[in-house]
Amino acid sequence: MSLTLAKIIWVIGIIAWTAIRWPHRRRAKKLAVSVDRKSVSERTLLALCIVGLVIIPALYLATDWFDAFDYSFSPLFALVGTLLMVGFLVLFHLSHKQVGKNWSVTLELREDHKLITDGLYAHVRHPMYSSFWLWGLAQAFLLPNWIAGFAGVASVALLYFSRVSNEEQMMREAFGEEYDAYCTRTPRILPRIF
Ligand code: SAH
Repeated sequence: MSLTLAKIIWVIGIIAWTAIRWPHRRRAKKLAVSVDRKSVSERTLLALCIVGLVIIPALYLATDWFDAFDYSFSPLFALVGTLLMVGFLVLFHLSHKQVGKNWSVTLELREDHKLITDGLYAHVRHPMYSSFWLWGLAQAFLLPNWIAGFAGVASVALLYFSRVSNEEQMMREAFGEEYDAYCTRTPRILPRIF
């Protein structure tokens, strides 16, 4: 594997991410919201994620601004990055499919919101966030640059740690004991095998 191929794989990953999310975003706009917990900090963190996962690596590919932070390319790392990118896309697609009409890009509950606890959600409570970690790691393995490579995983960490307990609090208020029981039997992002 060459550096050029690793960069192409990163670009394909971004195109596939957009294509997977697009129909869900379109549908979500039409569905009524019953609880809205989105805040300025939440929106800022989402925007930061786009900067870390898309804009900074895109600038790295298109300009020479980050060249001083390059390190030597490893075909083995790029192969691991490719596998992580495939894992991200599969998990991202399946979690979207399984959470279905209940999905929102921010912290919201739909009218007639259903708590999903089967499929991937029987193994982890946040499979979509697990997929984001894979995406950030894929970027770090594919792009041999201290800034462009690690901007993704840093922004995922910021979003994940600031959002996950607020999201769980919202779900707990809506679903009560059912959600508590779900949390007791199901880990957050890594299945029990780990
Ligand atoms: N945290 C989940 C979902 C991310 S999308 C994951 O990583 O897969 C965020 C929205 O999904 C939240 O606003 C909430 O309304 C909804 N959500 C989160 N967990 C859910 C579940 N188990 N069942 C149904 N909806 C859920």
